[in-house]
Amino acid sequence: MMAGKNGKVKVAFFDFACCEGCQLTVIDSLQTHLDLLEAVEIVNFREASSEQRQDYQIAFIEGSITRKQDEERLRRIREQADILVALGACAHTAGINALKNLKPLDEVRRYVYGEHADWYDTYPARPVSAVVQVDAFIPGCPIDREEFVEVVKALLVGKKPPIPDYPVCVECKLKGNVCVFHVGKVCMGPVTRAGCGAICPTYGDGCEGCRGIIPNPNENAMEEVLDEAGLTLDEIMDRFTMFNAYRELEAEE
Ligand code: SF4
Ligand code: SF4
Ligand code: SF4
Repeated sequence: MMAGKNGKVKVAFFDFACCEGCQLTVIDSLQTHLDLLEAVEIVNFREASSEQRQDYQIAFIEGSITRKQDEERLRRIREQADILVALGACAHTAGINALKNLKPLDEVRRYVYGEHADWYDTYPARPVSAVVQVDAFIPGCPIDREEFVEVVKALLVGKKPPIPDYPVCVECKLKGNVCVFHVGKVCMGPVTRAGCGAICPTYGDGCEGCRGIIPNPNENAMEEVLDEAGLTLDEIMDRFTMFNAYRELEAEE
């Protein structure tokens, strides 16, 4: 990846269907990591700048793909970018947008847009990787501000971004938390990708799986915790649809 004349790599941020909370987290993160702005030049970032150049090398995509015409825009971005990164759960797993895929689309459209439902185009929500090749992802709803910085640094030196493949339970146990299953709550920690510092269980809530499911949950799930909770892998996978509805529906097809 060639840096520009000023020695900086050009990056851009684009949003599709989402709340834009992950872009806000990027802005928040950059405020305390000004060193990153020494290495990159932001050439397109609607939420933070009026600049709208198309000569970027790294494209961060926030949001899910929820309309046919989104695909064309996304493919144009893919053609320009050397590296394309899915930013946040909406882009990475289709996140909460995929909840609508669980209901008939017409019903969902009427619920949201009422009598004007026909004015708005929509199709089942999907992650960015369902349309174009994704080179890296930053999980979470929203993303973790420090992880964002670490991923950018890794990409700039051609390394694999340091996203954990092990479950949230590992971080939770290291923190010495009382497992929320012991207080009657449910938690997706045994099968969810770590990296958030097990923040929800640390504050007494079950993990909802916002960072996506770990690779090969059959091999990598925290079985000891599942055994203690008296749950099988299938049972826990069935319980959680908040952020992983797209994946679950795909698995059923
Ligand atoms: S992942 Fe969450 S915070 Fe980020 S854009 Fe989607 S809904 Fe918003
Ligand atoms: S199931 Fe949840 S609360 Fe229990 S150890 Fe795992 S992450 Fe922590
Ligand atoms: S504990 Fe689970 S729901 Fe909470 S931030 Fe981490 S991955 Fe997301």
